[in-house]
Amino acid sequence: MSSLTDTTVSYPLGDTTSTGHIVHLEPAADGRTIVVLDLTAAHPVDSAWPDQGADRGALTVDGAVLPLIDVVVCATDGSAFFAGSDIPVKKGTEGWAFVVGHVVGTDAALQPGAEVTVEIDPAYRRGLSIGHTACHLASLALNVALAEDWTKEVAGDGRGVANFDGEAIATSRIAEYGSTDVYRLGKSLKKRGFDKTRLLADPDAVAAIVNAQLAAWVGSAAEVDIRREGDTLISRRFWECALPDGAASIPCGGTHVHSLAELSAVTVALEASEDGTELVMHTIATV
Ligand SMILES: [Zn+2]
Repeated sequence: MSSLTDTTVSYPLGDTTSTGHIVHLEPAADGRTIVVLDLTAAHPVDSAWPDQGADRGALTVDGAVLPLIDVVVCATDGSAFFAGSDIPVKKGTEGWAFVVGHVVGTDAALQPGAEVTVEIDPAYRRGLSIGHTACHLASLALNVALAEDWTKEVAGDGRGVANFDGEAIATSRIAEYGSTDVYRLGKSLKKRGFDKTRLLADPDAVAAIVNAQLAAWVGSAAEVDIRREGDTLISRRFWECALPDGAASIPCGGTHVHSLAELSAVTVALEASEDGTELVMHTIATV
């Protein structure tokens, strides 16, 4: 295990199949096995920021098809192996390898070094990629719609607009053809200069501004690119989109469409909690 290195990943390119070799087998609870490959097309869920979930699919080893129960980010320092939320260090920590763990139900056919074919459900992946691109667009459009509500200087988003999403985001969940983002509107955000009066007075009016911006962007059919600084699980990657009124660049480890032309519409609904401390943005993409 001490020789494990960061897994090479091909899902950022849009791949849904890959062929690699077993570099580690880790026994897990309930008779399951975590299979680590040198290369994979399977997108794992990252417990540190679980916005896009695990791919669905199967491993094929020596003709045996092993359905994926889960795909999770794992890490090892060479002496111990940790999966998901048990990982005790931040991604990229010196001396640690970060790997994709394919969770399967049997270890009967598995031997280190064996060749493994990964096959990901392409329809489910496509739904998630559409949902993830829609999620980024919606967050940028929300920033535009709320830009006038900042009373202090605040860091800009990937397009230089006051980054409400970055300042207030609590959780983000990507689904097929959509996403749900939860924002905190508490004292801390107020201290940083956000005035929520207009937003809470009429969330639907703000959503209408977001939706008008989204319609203009989707209509531009702008290209989407994943810029990569490397090809491993922990390499920094950026979602980049040449939007007509300012190109966007957002750090992102997920999967995406190649062009906004693949979408026919993205719309949001905004819902504020009764006590005004939370905002939920529901985003839906149609193709
Ligand atoms: Zn992302």
